[in-house]
Amino acid sequence: MRRRRFLQTTSIAAGCMWASFPKKLHAQSIDSDQLRRIDETPVLRPDYLREPIVIESVELLRNKSNFLVRIRSKDGAESVTAPNSLRLKDCYPIFNSRVGRFFVGKNACKIESLLNELYRFSSNYKWQGLAFWVCQAALEMGVLDLIGKVRGVPLGELFGKIRQRDIAIYRASGNRRNTPQQEANVLGRFIAQTGAKAVKIRIGGRMKRIEDKISGRTEKLIPYIRKALGGKVTLYADSNSSYEVKDAIRIGRLLEENDYAFYEEPVPFDHLWETKEVTKALKIPVAGGEQEYSMRRFRWAIANRAMDIVQPDLHYNGGFIRGVRVAKMAEAAGLKCTPHMSGSGLGYVNVLHFASFIPNITAHQEFKGESDIPCQSKSSSLKAESGIVVCPKDPGMGVEIDPDYIKKAEPVNG
Ligand SMILES: [Mg+2]
Repeated sequence: MRRRRFLQTTSIAAGCMWASFPKKLHAQSIDSDQLRRIDETPVLRPDYLREPIVIESVELLRNKSNFLVRIRSKDGAESVTAPNSLRLKDCYPIFNSRVGRFFVGKNACKIESLLNELYRFSSNYKWQGLAFWVCQAALEMGVLDLIGKVRGVPLGELFGKIRQRDIAIYRASGNRRNTPQQEANVLGRFIAQTGAKAVKIRIGGRMKRIEDKISGRTEKLIPYIRKALGGKVTLYADSNSSYEVKDAIRIGRLLEENDYAFYEEPVPFDHLWETKEVTKALKIPVAGGEQEYSMRRFRWAIANRAMDIVQPDLHYNGGFIRGVRVAKMAEAAGLKCTPHMSGSGLGYVNVLHFASFIPNITAHQEFKGESDIPCQSKSSSLKAESGIVVCPKDPGMGVEIDPDYIKKAEPVNG
């Protein structure tokens, strides 16, 4: 009994180690109106936008399963970027008919106001949702890369001061069907391959309420992984909308006892009110927002502290500019931000740039491994070494996609 009490006491003490994630301490009261003003303020630095860069052409290309966006300016500058191919394979016609053609002949430096116009152009707002925002992000990232290349500055500098280039990463496991022992081996391999100081596990049944594939897996997994990986590894957990409030709180307490650093999507992701209930009840920071694409709902979530860490996806939410606005609103409320990393393309390079200049970024960013798009950077290996991936410092995205790979890519029309 005495030993059990000692273990309980020490686990509670361990549970108070969220020094890097102060949950309640730094929260600031902020109203929706203050957030609206932040949301409506331009985020790009005007000093890089004075001389016009007129867009001559926007092309969508495809090399097998990967899409590329090529944008050329009237005075000969060129950008080739990798959008979110995983989603574009289903929604690329929206890019061609509703997004790309709108920008031909326009001044790239007006991108912020042009994106507002794009929303109304041809009633695009009726298409708003992931299918539209992924296409907008594909265009916006190409335009930002082009501006960076013409001005000779890395993408982050278009928004503000570069604060860090050594970006600490975490690897996330996608497993829900293996045993805790097998999962500990998988995570151990991730750590050995990348040197990551943080990993994320999957808990619950993924959009399935409480049911695990293996009965009781989550309850065993949470303490098992902490014990197996030791106290020095930062652990995150993602339930992918698995629970109802009562069970979400019960599982959250187990995460707290085992010193996990955040708890992602504890309840259905669009149920902001239930997310708020869970956030209020728990000490562990609650993270969410990867499926969110409404700036007004982000605003509500931040003003009402529905979550402690906001996770806009740079593609699903329409690009860097909207992601930066979410981060700025979170910062004003004393909250942290970490972009959700959607798979495919060069999404991890987008995340590196975002993390390079956002002041309220969390300690680790998700890294899903290198892309299958052949590319290189003069200033980064683009690989995880000792848990760090270096953000390129060359102009724009700072990544050169293999010219042969681009040459073999076919134009996508229709
Ligand atoms: Mg998630």
